[in-house]
Amino acid sequence: MPQRTLSKTVRPSAFRLRAAAIAAVAAGTGAATLLGAGAAAADSASLAPTSVTTSAVADQAKAQTKAAAAVKQAAAAKAASWVHPVSRYTLSASFGLGGSMWSHKHSGQDFAVPNGTPVLAAHAGTVVKAGPVGAGDGPAYGNAVVVRHANNTYSQYAHLSKINVRVGQSVGTGERIALSGNTGNSSGPHLHFEIRTSPNYGSAVNPVAFLRTVGVTV
Ligand SMILES: [Zn+2]
Repeated sequence: MPQRTLSKTVRPSAFRLRAAAIAAVAAGTGAATLLGAGAAAADSASLAPTSVTTSAVADQAKAQTKAAAAVKQAAAAKAASWVHPVSRYTLSASFGLGGSMWSHKHSGQDFAVPNGTPVLAAHAGTVVKAGPVGAGDGPAYGNAVVVRHANNTYSQYAHLSKINVRVGQSVGTGERIALSGNTGNSSGPHLHFEIRTSPNYGSAVNPVAFLRTVGVTV
């Protein structure tokens, strides 16, 4: 029976081909799983010889390491950055102004905002002062908060209607620490913002000039 003979010789060969195809698919799937890559990478891995696949895995690993480093770097840059203490404002009294409102020159920058506007930590740090009577800096400030940052830099927030942080608390950049108000010696709802070189009154520097050096334009 020629038909039977033919089928006997063909069948094992067809079986081998099919087995090889299944193996190739399995290998391709394995490579794709290892890579954690998309369809394009899986295709090239299953078609490519073993040596190329190994190099593709190495390239992919390199690319993933690079991407992870970039994400880490972006996160570090974000952590290092400063932000505005209030997001929507009108600038009012600026630093260094004289006049009857202040016993000395104006020691901060005023941001006119409605009562109850969220006040944000301009940079990550630790709360070192929080309370009424300027948290120890005098009644003119009303309710106030001082945050210590790296490199002997402190930010101060005054005339607050509500304080949301306590001394010793760590705060992140842009974290809400208080609500603005009109407490203390204030002629209307606003945030008084200082940058200081110590936690205390008398060490203020121009906050607008300082913010500019850290990439924040007021
Ligand atoms: Zn002020």
